[in-house]
Formats: sequence, C-alpha cells, structure tokens
Amino acid sequence: IIRAEIITIGDEILYGHILDTNSQWMAARLSELGIKVTKIISISDTREAILEAVQHSDSDIQLITGGLGPTKDDVTKTTLCEFTEDELKIHPVAEAHVRELFESRGLPFTEINRLQAAIPSKCEYLHNAAGTAPGMWFNHENRIIVSLPGVPVEMKYLMSEEVIPKVKERLKPPMLAHAYLKTAGIGESFLAEKIAHWEESLPEEMKLAYLPDLAEVKLRLSSFGGHTVEELQKKFEEIIPIIDDFVYAKEDVTIEKSIGELLLNQNATLSTAESCTGGNIAHQITKVAGSSSYFLGSVVSYANSVKLDILKVKSETLSNFGAVSEETVTEMALGVQRLTGSTYAIATSGIAGPGGGTPGKPVGTIWMAVTNGNETITKKLNLNRDRLGNIEYTTKAALNLLRL
Ligand code: ATP
Ligand code: MG
Repeated sequence: IIRAEIITIGDEILYGHILDTNSQWMAARLSELGIKVTKIISISDTREAILEAVQHSDSDIQLITGGLGPTKDDVTKTTLCEFTEDELKIHPVAEAHVRELFESRGLPFTEINRLQAAIPSKCEYLHNAAGTAPGMWFNHENRIIVSLPGVPVEMKYLMSEEVIPKVKERLKPPMLAHAYLKTAGIGESFLAEKIAHWEESLPEEMKLAYLPDLAEVKLRLSSFGGHTVEELQKKFEEIIPIIDDFVYAKEDVTIEKSIGELLLNQNATLSTAESCTGGNIAHQITKVAGSSSYFLGSVVSYANSVKLDILKVKSETLSNFGAVSEETVTEMALGVQRLTGSTYAIATSGIAGPGGGTPGKPVGTIWMAVTNGNETITKKLNLNRDRLGNIEYTTKAALNLLRL
C-alpha cells in the first residue's frame, strides 16, 4: 500500500477565510490511483510549521500546496530548500516562462519576478503552464515531497500534467478496485450482524463499507491490493446465500433499473395504483430509458372517488376498513392490473403527513400491495419521516416488495 499525506499551507485556511478545496480534489485523484491517503492537514504559513510537517512522516508521498508566491509571506520554497540542505538556483526554463508571461501582459520583468523561477538545485522542476510558480518534486530519503502552488487551477494543472504521470511511473500504485452489492429491506445494523463473521475474515487490503440510503444499504468492497473487480465480486458471492432475500443487484444500479431488467427478462409488464405516492413510483420507473417495454401505466387514485369509480374498490371495503388498509391496497392493485392487463401491479395507500393522522392510523402509516392477479402480497410501514421522506421511502419499499 502506498501511503500519502496532503498538507495545505495558508493562514487563510486556518482563519476560516477560505475553504481548503485543494485537499478534497487531491485526495480524490490519489484514491483513484489506488494510493491510500492517510492524513490531511492544514498548517500555518511559517517556516516552523512547514519544517514540523516534513521532518517526521511515515508516508511514501507528501503533497503540499500553497505558499509559493513571490511575496515575503510565502516561505514554502525557502523552507523546503533549507530542509533538503540545498540552495536556490534560477531554473532557465522557468525563467523564460515567467519572463514571457510578464512580457505578454505588457508588465516589467523585475528581480522579484525572476526569483519565482528559482528552485532548490537538487529538486525536479515541474512546469506550471497555468501560472508563474513552478512545482517542485523532491526525492528525500525514501519519501517523495511535492510542493505545488495554492491557486486551485495551477495545482490542478500541475497534478494532472506533471505529478500524476510521475507518480504512476515511479510508485506503480496497485489498482484500486471496487465492487458493489445493493440490498433493500434490511437495516444497516442487522445486515452488519449477519455478515460480521465474513467481514472479519477479509484480508487486510480489502475494506467493506456500508453506505445506507433511503430504504436500502449499498455495500462496497474495495481493495488496495491489486484485486480485480471480478475477484471482489467473487468475494461478495460468499455472502449472497446469507443475505439473499435482501440483495437486489450485484452492481451499483438503482432498484428501478434492476426491476426493469427483471421484468424484461421475464417478458413481464407492470402498472401502479398510487394514492400516497402520487405517481412517484411511476415516475421513478419511467426515468429509466427503455421502461416503455415493461411499464404500462398508472392510476393516481388520490381521492376515494377515483379508487371507487376507476379502480373498482368496493365501497364496503372503503367504509369498513378505510382507504389506508390492507384490504383497500389489495383491491387497488387488482383493479389497476385488470384495467391495464399488466403481469404485475403495485398499489400504495397511506398517510404521508404532516396532517391526516388519527390515533389508530398515525402519520406514516402506509399500506402497499403487489399482485400478479392470483397472489397478492401486502406490507405495512410505520414511517416517521417528513412528507417527502415518507413518499420516497414508500416508493423504494414498494419497488422492493415487487422484487420479492
Ligand atoms: P500565489 O503565487 O498566488 O501567492 P501560492 O502558491 O503562494 O500562490 P497561496 O498564496 O497559498 O498560494 O494561495 C493563493 C490563493 O489560492 C489563495 O488566496 C486561495 O484563494 C487559493 N488557495 C490556496 N490554498 C488553497 C486551498 N488549500 N484550497 C483552496 N484554495 C486555496
Ligand atoms: Mg501566496
């Protein structure tokens, strides 16, 4: 594993005047390369702070940004020069570049500008076409130290054009690979308990992450050890028997997409009858390109009259059990299935809130049904989110019910 540290220099960051966005960007690039970022720090523009940061480090590479300007408050270059026991020397390519920049802007080329082109004699020069301060690459004992300007466009230019290619060539980072398993219908902690034994047995270079989202948990298995995505997917196969009921995809796809594939494979069609979700299930399904091959339509039966007149829910059912009941969603699902002739139908009815709750049926009481015409499965949810949260959660849960 190659370990990296990111150090951003500048009192502006420590005062809270600017946000250190350089670190985030650099960390993302390093992670893509399979390099493990172990530390990100921001320090003051002083010789002492910079020396302290470079004197003791167990990283393979330290990336530093900021403090490379020509003014007195920028001390990174002189400090790194002192640390590597070197002396500053004008770099001819840098000098020509800075001179040209000034001349092209019609500005005089002064001695202070010329000093921008001075770098420690033993470091490697990194050409900064996006600005005046050169980047510097130091091979210090077993470590690489790279100093880059703080200005984000210049830092990004140097990272992309100079640093990343050099890092790839010199450090040969192992490829970072990720595999995903998407689960729904089980909470993060219950999932963790089921696979704890497997998780403990993972080799050191593999890391499992739980990424919970609405009504679902995404599992990500990452490797810094040179494993391929296929190898990680094979590793995931070991837990599929344990959590089979909850796994809806073996890659990073949405539930609506994976359901679309399922329906396509079965040559089956779907319709929805939606009360509390107001058409959101239909919306999610139809966001997927190609959904016209399996999605037939929806009745947004918000009012009881629509449930009665169009879906043919019986008036006794509504008066005896209410609109939010197992009986009503069952008849809604059967109603829309009959109307459209679809293979499957989903129905929802519930109290999304904030008003409309009663002691027996508080806000967040949701019933949903899935039918194929012969068999119907139902499910009740007791949610405690806000209105939109309840709608979104119900949408995912209903799609997940169809999968079962
Ligand atoms: P200059 O030659 O412009 O002085 P420099 O290398 O000395 O460049 P700094 O003086 O540290 O860099 O920063 C220049 C500007 O770049 C800052 O005013 C700030 O707007 C931006 N900057 C510096 N560091 C960061 C950072 N870590 N994240 C985001 N922006 C930054
Ligand atoms: Mg500066």
